[in-house]
Amino acid sequence: MLNQSVLLGKSLEELTDWVKQQGQPAYRGKQLHQWLYQKGARSLHEITVFPKQWREQLEEQPIGRSTITHRSIAPDQTRKYLLRLHDGEVIETVGIPTAKRLTVCVSSQVGCPMKCDFCATGKGGFTRNLQAHEIVDQVLTVAEDFQQRVSHVVFMGMGEPLLNTEEVVKAVKLLNQDVGIGQRSLTVSTVGVPQQIPKLAAEKLQITLAISLHASNQPLREQLIPSGGGYPLSDILADCRDYVEQTHRRVTFEYILLAGVNDTPDHAQELVQLLRGFQTHVNLIPYNPISEVDYQRPNEKRIQAFQSVLEEAKIAVSVRYSRGLEADAACGQLRANQSK
Ligand code: SAH
Repeated sequence: MLNQSVLLGKSLEELTDWVKQQGQPAYRGKQLHQWLYQKGARSLHEITVFPKQWREQLEEQPIGRSTITHRSIAPDQTRKYLLRLHDGEVIETVGIPTAKRLTVCVSSQVGCPMKCDFCATGKGGFTRNLQAHEIVDQVLTVAEDFQQRVSHVVFMGMGEPLLNTEEVVKAVKLLNQDVGIGQRSLTVSTVGVPQQIPKLAAEKLQITLAISLHASNQPLREQLIPSGGGYPLSDILADCRDYVEQTHRRVTFEYILLAGVNDTPDHAQELVQLLRGFQTHVNLIPYNPISEVDYQRPNEKRIQAFQSVLEEAKIAVSVRYSRGLEADAACGQLRANQSK
């Protein structure tokens, strides 16, 4: 049961129309917009610039905010949240503070149907897509909890964003235009869904597209990512080339490192060949152990050896350790562990 009538997710124009329908002057639309997207109002009742009588009349009007049902704080100050949506479904959101940034890792779906072998979210199954305002809500929730402006958003929480492209694009535009986060500070991460990268390219957004590659050849990729067969590496890379041409943005690649599976120097060489001709950045993500499978994280020496092969080939590379491990911050882990 989706609730279409909430106020969050509406543009300034739509909010202005809405206040006029309520018999209020147009300027109240601007106020409502500011209270929703800048001040993070959770109910109309708290919008003190509105006449008291009107606020009381509208007490029942849903805004579209979730409630925090759980929060854990890791020693590195990463905060992980479980948020309950209007229909009782629960999603994960993570707030990651660094010196100059506050990054929010948002979910785009309740669960995920992709079933990547190493990912906790996939093990829990799929329930539904999120609506754009439910994505924006996650960002507002973290901003409120940290009492700080959110500088960056990554779509790396639960779900596959490009199975929900329309609402994700809508959320990107809201985060940019209404919340005020620069497009270059927004990253959409995908394992790849046929036809969706060209669709995203056509939007001509200045966001960062991150591809969860995870393998240097097709058979290995299909072993790790069951959906990989329907969208071969060669097609993904061709779509990425078109994406770069259309948007003039670099595409980044994510590569999870699983000991003895995809982390040998030979794999690294194969990856170099695969990415030949790409102006790119590779993020190596040492596997974050989940209880459902018995992959291992490679040791430091192996991680460095893999990294060196890429560096020697002049590929920009960084190792991205999952933040907030103590807060169960790997994809889908917190929700899985809470429901045990
Ligand atoms: N579905 C999207 C976004 C969600 S996952 C995608 O696949 O890109 C975000 C990133 O976390 C992906 O690169 C994913 O492969 C990675 N990830 C998932 N499980 C992980 C684990 N156990 N350890 C480390 N990284 C993981």
